[in-house]
Amino acid sequence: MPLIDLSLLRQALGPMASRFDVDALDSCTSTNALLLERANQAAPAGTVLVSDRQTAGRGRRGRSWNSSPEDSLTFSLLWRWPASPARLAGLSLAVGLALARGLEALGFAEVGLKWPNDLYLSGHRGEAKLGGILVELAADRRGIQVVIGIGLNLRAPAPEQLEQPAAGLAQLGPLPERHLLLATLLTHLMATLDAFEPQGFAPLQPEWQRRHIWQGRPVRLLEEGQVLAEGRCLGADAEGSLLLETRAGIQRFLAGDVSLRAQ
Ligand code: ATP
Repeated sequence: MPLIDLSLLRQALGPMASRFDVDALDSCTSTNALLLERANQAAPAGTVLVSDRQTAGRGRRGRSWNSSPEDSLTFSLLWRWPASPARLAGLSLAVGLALARGLEALGFAEVGLKWPNDLYLSGHRGEAKLGGILVELAADRRGIQVVIGIGLNLRAPAPEQLEQPAAGLAQLGPLPERHLLLATLLTHLMATLDAFEPQGFAPLQPEWQRRHIWQGRPVRLLEEGQVLAEGRCLGADAEGSLLLETRAGIQRFLAGDVSLRAQ
């Protein structure tokens, strides 16, 4: 039996339940990979896959995402995008903001955002990754299908498995009940996507900046391990690109194969 019971989730979603079609699994390779397959078989927008275990959970550039059933929440949401893919810039930042809003509504006010796609614990407890977002796209004749994958640590994974420090939500306070947590995150995701669809990232940018962990701090941007740029981090612009104040002036970077690190 999966940890998520669909009737309890429906209750927790209340009136928002009609916007989602949820499938809960004990195990799968990757909720994003499986949802992309279902999207190709015409699954409706609002389809959600939540899995206790992922045997091949993934991050950007083919890297892996670690999770374990009791200590993580991993799920993916299918959404359809009627417009040009260029207007999707900033979506993973909008998703991060939605999750931070949802966690704040549950009493976790100290969740920060790192460009372009991470949830971070920040402040006096140190800096460590609390969750990751992986947005993947597939096009068909109906438009663009957007698969939004979320991996959230409820408790921190073992440090030896990871390149960078990781944190768990339990470090910030008592963990919410799992159905309430998933329902709250889905509700905030849908509300933020509803706002993103007509207006893009621009109206969300000021709030993203307030939650951005490295605003004004010296950072470096890496590409395949090499330093691509360094300077003071000015956060994201209205399209979701990264702004760095470098010796050569303000430079703008799209979220491609680059990684941001604090100096
Ligand atoms: P970068 O910091 O380089 O921009 P990213 O934030 O894009 O990376 P992702 O590709 O989203 O990273 O996630 C994969 C990376 O996250 C892996 O390299 C791994 O080190 C780390 N990671 C994997 N599982 C977890 C986890 N449960 N908690 C925290 N970090 C993790």
